[in-house]
Amino acid sequence: MRLLRSVATAMVRLSESTGTRPLNQPYPDQAQQALNETALACLMLMAQPPESLPELVEWAADRPLDDWPFTVPDDVIPRGAVLLDSGTRQPTPLCYEWAVDAEETTTLSERPHMSMAATRCREEDYPEAYQSFRRLLIRRPVLTNRDLVTLPGSDDGELGPLGDLLHDIYQPAPAAYLDRRRGVYTACARCRTLLHPTTEGGMWCERQSCRKQDSVRHGREYRPDDDGGVHLLIRPLRQWVSAAGVQEERLARRLVKHGADVELWPGYGAYGMRVRLPDGTTLAVEHKDWTSPALLGRRAAPPSAGPPYDRCVWVVPAARLREYPWFRSVFERYRPTASPELMSDRELVDTVRWSDGPPSTGAGAADDEPVEGLF
Ligand SMILES: [Zn+2]
Repeated sequence: MRLLRSVATAMVRLSESTGTRPLNQPYPDQAQQALNETALACLMLMAQPPESLPELVEWAADRPLDDWPFTVPDDVIPRGAVLLDSGTRQPTPLCYEWAVDAEETTTLSERPHMSMAATRCREEDYPEAYQSFRRLLIRRPVLTNRDLVTLPGSDDGELGPLGDLLHDIYQPAPAAYLDRRRGVYTACARCRTLLHPTTEGGMWCERQSCRKQDSVRHGREYRPDDDGGVHLLIRPLRQWVSAAGVQEERLARRLVKHGADVELWPGYGAYGMRVRLPDGTTLAVEHKDWTSPALLGRRAAPPSAGPPYDRCVWVVPAARLREYPWFRSVFERYRPTASPELMSDRELVDTVRWSDGPPSTGAGAADDEPVEGLF
């Protein structure tokens, strides 16, 4: 597992710096170390090692982890999972899950940025600014340079003390996202992050929820010099804040519809949402759409701060539990604490719906919002 963390971290770092191709020696230290460790493990197992970093990248993109020479417990790796998307060489969500599992790589998590935003807003007693900041990250993963300059001062931004943070978390859009044939960056019409061109001439969205739809939907296009340049929210915040936030907002709407009081990101983001059921019970809820139930289980812990609650719940999309029937049992096996409980989004909606007693005849009809129209 330590080796997998090392390789995953190297792949994430490569994608952030040079992209995972072309790769010339000397390789970045972290990548060289991951290559050395993989080669050593292979030699000890008398297996053919990767001979270069490009070959290790090929393994990460084309070779499912359960087909690598070394063995890890088969419940920590979803069958057929890879670290890099084969068409774009971009890290998969699972790759980031492994990378943040390595303690020394906290910069790959959302925590440093989100805790700084929370601290500043708490010091100024300005919860509205924190809420605006959170909504900005969810709704606008792409900003132009002009947006970065004008948003902090605008009335609808209301970012208070957080304006200058934008320059740290929105970085110039990587050239790998540019459609070179047409000379434009293209946003996903569903989630609004940038689509990535694939080696087959198509476009790819990093969010699995978008890829599950029939086809990629092209949204707004940006020329590289539009309004002073195109900036993309950094990947840890896209993965751990924006994507989760879209799901939390959708879930909140469903829960309110069934009679719950919902407060999103209470206590300056101490947890995802505070849900008060019709019977008075209060839940601390967080949306966790992770690929690996083992890695998610290892992080299971109730929130350490924020407004009080009776029960703590982590919500996983019902579709993921259907896709991986063993998700719940693996999560239970790896968790260090009994709280939080794990529920599907549908189970949470039913908990709200039934909190005042069993449903009347006819209740229980599907109330899922369509996945289209996330905002
Ligand atoms: Zn998308």
